[in-house]
Amino acid sequence: MTTVVITGANRGLGLALAKRYRALGATVIGGCRKPDAAVDLAAAGAEVHPLDTGSGASIAAFGAAVGDRPVDVLFNNAGIDATAVGADDGARGALDLTEAQFRSVIDVNLLGPLLMVQALADNLRAARGKVINVSSQVGSFEVAPRIGRDASYASSKAALNMLSLKQSQVLQPDGVSVIALHPGWVRSDMGGPRATLEPADAASSIASVVDGLTIDQTGSFLQWDGSVHPW
Ligand code: NDP
Repeated sequence: MTTVVITGANRGLGLALAKRYRALGATVIGGCRKPDAAVDLAAAGAEVHPLDTGSGASIAAFGAAVGDRPVDVLFNNAGIDATAVGADDGARGALDLTEAQFRSVIDVNLLGPLLMVQALADNLRAARGKVINVSSQVGSFEVAPRIGRDASYASSKAALNMLSLKQSQVLQPDGVSVIALHPGWVRSDMGGPRATLEPADAASSIASVVDGLTIDQTGSFLQWDGSVHPW
């Protein structure tokens, strides 16, 4: 039985991934900030546990809830941009953001995936599992000069790309793969209504890519359709 852990599993891409893996027969362990409100996640048949990826203590408690179960796939999916922590939509440049806003985005988008992998390293080793760090094209040095107006978000995703590479190096000897993944422009609260991909379609494609992922691809930056994304 495949076991899949998803952070930020209560809405958007995370919920779509949870539904997809449930449809494939996997055990889904979903983490979210407000488990009691995660009605759709529970209805999909996922296990629901409290998880705030901006808090080391919360991540440790979540790890304890997972226990010693082998984890086949970990999606570090939870993510925010600076509007989630009070920044004005049009004031997210490097000269606009406050220290608190920038730190909060780094906490959730970078330190969250760092601490999640530390908390679940033994579980991942036991399954020779896969870590999917949900990044973004705006974390790419090739893409960022053209798009991405939130300096904290783009910086956090660029750093997440590097973290993915560093995690892949230390986990490769144990057969654990780690990739950074651009999920596409997904019609969620973050992606907005003009986005090109339905969450269910993105999730379906991503699940196929993850299924076919081999240890030879560890340390790569891929897109939702399996193609390589430029760093
Ligand atoms: P949404 O804003 O729709 O959902 C974000 C999810 O992350 C929610 O479940 C939210 O929970 C959760 N979350 C936020 N902060 C925390 C936290 N501190 N602890 C736990 N969970 C948290 O975004 P998407 O579904 O669109 O994005 C999913 C991932 O994909 C993100 O990492 C995002 O950066 C990335 N991405 C998305 C793109 C898009 O077009 N949508 C494009 C490129 C990348 P809550 O309900 O509690 O807020």
